[in-house]
Parts: sequence; structure tokens; C-alpha cells
Amino acid sequence: MTTRVQSPAPLDLISVPSPQPKEADYAGRVQLLAELHEEIRFCRRCVVAGYLAQANTVGATRGRIGDRLMVVGQAPGHLSVERGVPFAGPGGVILDRWLQQAGFSPGALHREVYLSALTRCDPGKHPRGSGDRKPSPPELALCRPYLLRELDLVRPRVILPVGGMAIAAFLGPQRLEDVIGEAFERNGALLIPLPHPSGVSRWLNDPGHQRLLAQALARLGEWRLECSG
Ligand code: SF4
Repeated sequence: MTTRVQSPAPLDLISVPSPQPKEADYAGRVQLLAELHEEIRFCRRCVVAGYLAQANTVGATRGRIGDRLMVVGQAPGHLSVERGVPFAGPGGVILDRWLQQAGFSPGALHREVYLSALTRCDPGKHPRGSGDRKPSPPELALCRPYLLRELDLVRPRVILPVGGMAIAAFLGPQRLEDVIGEAFERNGALLIPLPHPSGVSRWLNDPGHQRLLAQALARLGEWRLECSG
């Protein structure tokens, strides 16, 4: 398998910061990340701007400095809010299974992975009743600085954008079949796009798409072996 070389990204995409010295500022980063988590917890920007009736960030973010793998989803769902844990629903179970396919131990998703999202509040149901509402561009813009600061502080070695919206945030609008199974280098970090694991996505019903997913997980597995070797 080959890894695509870094290509210039348009300015409106989320950029991955360059690696910086690792240990010298570790304690400072731990402190800053704790402060950031608190800031996210009490954020009400979308309520003040009139995009959300209420903010609830309790199930939006989890992780530590030192996590080498970061998952970036779209937004927490109602189960994450109820349980106070990101990826608390069936999608999280499937995502954990995918990690196992890449060689991680069961439960690694909630134990070893920094869990983040494009927005940190449950956007609620789609007004026409077909699944969850997608966060609007202004909500994405209001929440985006949190992800940028997390990337800067956590400095993951591998980023897994999960689902079309998260993939587009890093790579621009893409057909899933063009990017799943590929890996993209960004400032020394590896970007491995994954489809959304929720049952709502019919993309995975196609056996060819399942093969692309297997290829993506094989890439993740290769990275895991290289890191543990
Ligand atoms: S979605 Fe993000 S910016 Fe909007 S209120 Fe929630 S945490 Fe704040």
C-alpha cells in the first residue's frame, strides 16, 4: 500500500499542526487541555447565537495528552449525552470492533483513543425525522476552534475522521469511495478516513465498500505494528 504525499490544503480546511518537541512542555499541555475541556463543558456559543435551544457537551469529548490516536466524529448523539460518553451508542460498538480488526484490544476506543468531534453538542433530530440533524456551517464555525486547539495540544500521530462531514473538514468534499482505504500524510500525522459506523449509513452495504474499509483498517493496523515494534 502507498501513502499519498502531502498536498497543499485550502485554507478553510482543518490543518494538522506540525510536530513539536514532545516532553518539554508536557505538564503545560496537560493543564491547557484540562482548561480546554472545562471551556467546552460550559460553552453556550450556539445557544447565544440562536442555533441551539440548549447546549449539552457532557458526552462530547474524552482523552488525554499522550493519546496517539484521535477519532473525529460529526457531533455527539443523544445516547452520548445521556451516558456522558462519546460514541456511547451502537456506532461506538462498531467502531471499537473496527479497531479490533486493526489489532487493538477490545474496549480500546474508550480507553486509548482521544475522542473528538466537529461540534460538541447534540444537534438533535433532523426536522423531517430522518436521523440526526447535521450541524450547520455556522455551528461548525463556532465549534471549530476547540478541535484546532485539541489537535495542537494532543498532537495525535493518527487521525481518524469518521463519516463524510469529518472527512470533508480535513480533506474537502470527497466521495467516500475515493478516500476510504487511503492514508494522507499531514505534517507528520497520518489521516485515515473511515465511513460512519452508524447503522444509518448504507454505504457499507456494498461489498466493494466493505473491502475499502478493510483496507483502511489494514493501514491502521500497519501503523499500530510499526509503533509497537
Ligand atoms: S456546538 Fe460547540 S460551539 Fe456550539 S454550544 Fe456546543 S460546544 Fe459551544
